Amino acid sequence: MKKIAIIGAGISGLFFANLFKGNPNYQITIYEKNNSLDLDEGYGIQLSVNSIKLLNKIGFENLNSQDKFNPNKIDFYSVNQNMKICDLNISDFNTIDCKYTTLKRSILINYLKENLNTEIIKYDHNISQINYTKNLIKLVFQNNISRECDFLIISDGIFSKAKRLITNNLVKPSFNGSVAIRGVINKKDLTGINLDNISLFLGKNFHNVIYPVNKTEDFNYIAILKHYLKFQEPKNYEFFNDDFSINKFLGGLPYNTKIKKIKYYPVFISKNFYEPVKNNLFLIGDAFFAVPPSFAQGASQSIEGAFELYESIKNNSYSNFHINRVKKLKMIKNRSKINQFAFHLSSPIMISMRNFFLKILTKNKKFLENYLGKVYRN
Ligand SMILES: Cc1cc2nc3c(=O)[nH]c(=O)nc-3n(C[C@H](O)[C@H](O)[C@H](O)COP(=O)(O)OP(=O)(O)OC[C@H]3O[C@@H](n4cnc5c(N)ncnc54)[C@H](O)[C@@H]3O)c2cc1C
Repeated sequence: MKKIAIIGAGISGLFFANLFKGNPNYQITIYEKNNSLDLDEGYGIQLSVNSIKLLNKIGFENLNSQDKFNPNKIDFYSVNQNMKICDLNISDFNTIDCKYTTLKRSILINYLKENLNTEIIKYDHNISQINYTKNLIKLVFQNNISRECDFLIISDGIFSKAKRLITNNLVKPSFNGSVAIRGVINKKDLTGINLDNISLFLGKNFHNVIYPVNKTEDFNYIAILKHYLKFQEPKNYEFFNDDFSINKFLGGLPYNTKIKKIKYYPVFISKNFYEPVKNNLFLIGDAFFAVPPSFAQGASQSIEGAFELYESIKNNSYSNFHINRVKKLKMIKNRSKINQFAFHLSSPIMISMRNFFLKILTKNKKFLENYLGKVYRN
């Protein structure tokens, strides 16, 4: 029986472990630095059909239907012109079993966790050393526990310490010049939008998104704003201090007084791809490559990457895993950058042109098949 060690119990690590459930040829252990899972209670996540198809392989379709939502369209609004620009029928990519889905992040994490045997996740295990012997990998944790494994899967997120350990601190993420604000809104506080859709508000140097996360009353709020960190502001992934002036970000945004549980933090993304030299060591999720958030594909790609690696290990064929992942993630990185550029325009002429083309492109089947279909159909 081969031992597989997974560093990090996020979406990618947990989904990867789920795929091996009941497989007698592998013993899976997840090492998580925290003493419980980070549920980010209340906040939402969008999952496109490419990841829903893969999640259904572990029975995700059986999740209580009240705990998830299937939006029909993305409604585009102009904040400055105070009008709806157009809409895009996101459900065109749905099939009967796989639908674009929004839900609370905590529901997804809990689902992935509850499917696993409780013994699989070892909490309070913060990786501190990774050493190689001939075929085995030796892991040492900060609590002085050491373990050996045949395969090591690094899935400890964008600030991956395991990745820094294997690259001697050479591969680090970079700040992408924007700040993300997250919050929750109650259905009763929302007016003037279609509550069955994802509402995307485009403003000068920012965009924000509101969508339902279940069939009851909870909506997720997320804004991405262009912002350059000042010297005194934190230059890492920690949330900004509470006394940091949030109003300077929220001013002018719709619904700003009704957003609850607000958290805000700088957005970091990956700069380069890194391919491990050892053929029993792999990266997945944000540790493999974190894309900008403007395409809402981070979690879906974490799921896709985990599935591709599962297939590679099961079939003992690793040669295409890295190449295929890089190809897909480059495509998403480029689309995310285009989205962010178009969503954040500030010149009135450029905004008029953008709105004109958005109206045409969101109804152009060929364009949508190329721009979204290539990402959503894996
Ligand atoms: C603002 C914003 C909005 C987003 N919205 C969406 C969306 O709508 N749809 C979407 O698809 N994606 C979205 N994403 C992206 C998505 O959240 C991430 O891509 C995804 O969570 C990455 O999963 P992961 O498993 O790679 O890492 P993570 O979820 O970051 O999990 C990493 C795990 O590793 C653990 N860990 C860290 N360090 C160590 C260590 N030293 N030792 C052991 N364990 C460790 C952590 O505690 C954590 O449990 C968004 C991202 C942002 C920033």
